[in-house]
Amino acid sequence: MAILNILHYPDERLHKVARPVEIVDDEIRRLVEDMAETMYDAPGIGLAATQVNVHLRVIVIDTSEERNGLCAFINPRIISANGQVLSEEGCLSVPGIYESVDRAEHIVVEALDQDGQPFQIEATGLLANCIQHEIDHLDGKVFVEKLSRLKQSRILNKLKKNHRKTM
Ligand code: ZN
Repeated sequence: MAILNILHYPDERLHKVARPVEIVDDEIRRLVEDMAETMYDAPGIGLAATQVNVHLRVIVIDTSEERNGLCAFINPRIISANGQVLSEEGCLSVPGIYESVDRAEHIVVEALDQDGQPFQIEATGLLANCIQHEIDHLDGKVFVEKLSRLKQSRILNKLKKNHRKTM
């Protein structure tokens, strides 16, 4: 297993649209393991392959308190979405920034598991928000881009300052 390097907004590579996984093989299973290790190390509750500069439709999520509920979604697709909630979100690619964005309240997601078997889950609350946030990454979208232009430019300035401080 390996800890992968996480891309930071506004890195252009975060705007690439990920390709579907054709075959769930050992290479994909290793990617899932490395992504999980990277997410737990960060620590975070979700990570999309796009964030580690692998442009395949793979996400890992663990919203459990005990950090023992790893969920991997390969080629995830939202097949139904209902309701609307404002949820405060952060992102490992946008460190230190937390903002509220609109999400569907209830979703049904279809995906493949690590054995290539299809499954479906219903999600609400934190898990639903997290799945939507990670699927956006696969489509090349970062959550702060849902905010007003003014907020986005404030965030960019703040990130530049933080970056200078850590150099
Ligand atoms: Zn994110």
